[in-house]
Amino acid sequence: FAVLLPRLARRDDIELVVRKILDALKPVVTLTDIPLEVRPAIGVALYPDHGTDASMLYQHADVALNVSKTKHQAYTIYDSAIDVYDPQRLSLMAELRLAIATDQLQLHYQPRIDLRNRSLAGVEALVRWQHPKRGLIPPDDFSPAAEKTGLIDELTLWVLHKAMLQGKHWEAQGLSLEMAVNISTRSLHEMFLVSSVREALKQTAFAPQRLILEVTESAIMLDPVNSMRELEAVHELGVQFAIDDFGIGYSSLAYLRQLPVEHIKIDKSFIINMHDPKNGAIVRGTVELGHSLGLNVVAEGVEDKAAYTSLKLLGCDQAQGYYISRALPLSTFNDWMSKSRWKAKTA
Ligand code: C2E
Ligand code: CA
Ligand code: CA
Repeated sequence: FAVLLPRLARRDDIELVVRKILDALKPVVTLTDIPLEVRPAIGVALYPDHGTDASMLYQHADVALNVSKTKHQAYTIYDSAIDVYDPQRLSLMAELRLAIATDQLQLHYQPRIDLRNRSLAGVEALVRWQHPKRGLIPPDDFSPAAEKTGLIDELTLWVLHKAMLQGKHWEAQGLSLEMAVNISTRSLHEMFLVSSVREALKQTAFAPQRLILEVTESAIMLDPVNSMRELEAVHELGVQFAIDDFGIGYSSLAYLRQLPVEHIKIDKSFIINMHDPKNGAIVRGTVELGHSLGLNVVAEGVEDKAAYTSLKLLGCDQAQGYYISRALPLSTFNDWMSKSRWKAKTA
């Protein structure tokens, strides 16, 4: 549906209109006895900020709509920063290519701790871009565009290499830390991942059993047959896999059982809102499901003591989140490690 609002008085009124549309679509629709719940996604473009003719406005509303769909949010207002086709974006991609080549990227490290014995199990490497003019850019602001333009493979290679090199440094200091690296949807193709991981393991001499590759459910489900083949080939190198953002994708339990994975990471949206009984029940169910499949269950987005304690009571294995620590640059992370009550095991 397209909704035209020729007499919108203030930008803030968009929210009001959106609420009305969402409320109108709330009642469950029954089609031949089957109750269907409608989950609307809305994209908004404003005249004259986002276009001065119908076609430009429509195109930009469509870009915003796509963001709502992929991010599972009710509505998005267009912004050139989210538009992968925006010329500014494209020049940013040219700069990203250079940034990868000239080491303008950095990794920050976020600890993952064990809930049973208070040890530090490992870290997740999270990429940031130190842009000379724009400052520190978070991955959500450049990795979607990097996926669309094919630069993501170069990014993945860079991160794998850098993270394993750091892992090797800690190993040399006698610390036993697992290193988790995020693998984007687009890097799961045509044996790209196998050859990259094999090469990085060889060059850095990092122990493969300490490497965890985080892949989202939706990435696997996009092309289950090929993804499975790729995951299995990488798994044979001795590395581990985690399913990231677990619970928000279309989890097919049949597939989950067959996948060569060791860990599931319950999506932070459930953990942050765990005080809501519905989310609490989902978390409890996921911990049980994970355990019955023999998997290590990690909760991400643990922001406060209440969540931490509940997860412990539920028998969740590991936790990651602001309550323990944010993702930190290397030197700050090393500092955190030396003072923290969660200690790394020695190798
Ligand atoms: P993710 O893999 O789900 O990573 C977790 C994100 O949640 C991180 O954001 C982290 O800083 C944030 N976070 C951690 N603890 C908490 C918490 O307690 N509460 C809340 N609200 N947030 C928390 P970040 O670093 O901005 O990364 C965002 C996403 O970008 C990541 O989501 C991941 O999908 C992607 N990403 C990060 N690094 C890489 C990379 O090297 N390669 C690829 N392909 N994607 C990456
Ligand atoms: Ca992750
Ligand atoms: Ca996640």
